Amino acid sequence: MSKDYYNILGIGKNASPDEIKKAYRKLAHQYHPDKQGGDEQKFKEINEAYQVLGNPEKRQQYDQYGQTFEQAKRQGGFSGFEGFRDFSDFASAFRGNGSAQDFDFGGFGDIFGDLFGFQRGTGGRKRGGDLQTSINITFKEAVFGAEKIINITKDNVCTRCSGTGAEPGSKVVTCPTCHGRGNVVRSVAFGIQMSSVCPTCGGAGKKAEKNCSKCRGRGVVRETSELKIKVPAGIDDGQSIKLSGQGQAGSSGGRAGDLYVVVNVAKDAEFEREGFDILSRREISVSQAALGDKILVDTLDGRIKLKIPAGTQSGKVFVLRGLGIPHLHGRGRGNHLVEINVKTPTNLSRRQKELLEELRKEDGR
Ligand SMILES: [Zn+2]
Ligand SMILES: [Zn+2]
Repeated sequence: MSKDYYNILGIGKNASPDEIKKAYRKLAHQYHPDKQGGDEQKFKEINEAYQVLGNPEKRQQYDQYGQTFEQAKRQGGFSGFEGFRDFSDFASAFRGNGSAQDFDFGGFGDIFGDLFGFQRGTGGRKRGGDLQTSINITFKEAVFGAEKIINITKDNVCTRCSGTGAEPGSKVVTCPTCHGRGNVVRSVAFGIQMSSVCPTCGGAGKKAEKNCSKCRGRGVVRETSELKIKVPAGIDDGQSIKLSGQGQAGSSGGRAGDLYVVVNVAKDAEFEREGFDILSRREISVSQAALGDKILVDTLDGRIKLKIPAGTQSGKVFVLRGLGIPHLHGRGRGNHLVEINVKTPTNLSRRQKELLEELRKEDGR
């Protein structure tokens, strides 16, 4: 059990939202660090308490479990319970399995986890599977983001029966497989029996007399649908976009799985990517390198003028700040690095040859 927030605010467990707010204001005023007799530590505690108790949802969690989900997650306390919204879900999942009460949870710390995993996989309410697909985008689409339409074939909840698998208006009868018990028992080892959820009724113990004519009792239908995907600016080759709830439909009211879209980014003839920086190369002539010049350089944002100072060496890299790739889900952009290579002239004209001969004489002085 963590801190007693009610105690910190000096209120009863049944305090109304108004009373909580009043108590908070009074104490925050009293202990504010800027004030005479203030107390920073106490002030922090008061704020923490109010953040939980002042929020109806968090307060309910706190009342029920002695801490909020955020706190529990930070401590790793609830890790096994992810996937269930609250303990009533948890309890109903266990009700689906008649063996739950046979276990003494107190002494079965590890088995508990195993049981839980087992339970989640076979429970009546089953989460839909995750799906993976891929899209091809251009280099520039990866840089600036894009909207893409894909066709995805997957199981969707049947619209005729709303996923129940029962023909609308059909009578409900006792499940013939489990005779209404909701689970089937099998021996797994000497003297040990394991019960699992009935595969016919999914633990309900009942089933519709007539299966839904559209989905044939599956509760889901396989369909191909169009899906719009927002590709975020800055995404890199091989990264994936997660679309929550766009995977396979769950069964018996279970959540749908997620869809992962792996992004394949085409190479660009001009630009290379390194993290959030762009690299490109430009050749300049000996005279441009020696005397200096202004050259045009292609960037993601179009052509810009780059000043080449006199005496630039081959291999010199110029940094164009902020002209790189936008930080994925963040602010700002990387840089564009332009590597300059000095091109040694070939196939000289007569005049060029003469000038270079002159230069050699000068160099040799
Ligand atoms: Zn149906
Ligand atoms: Zn059954």
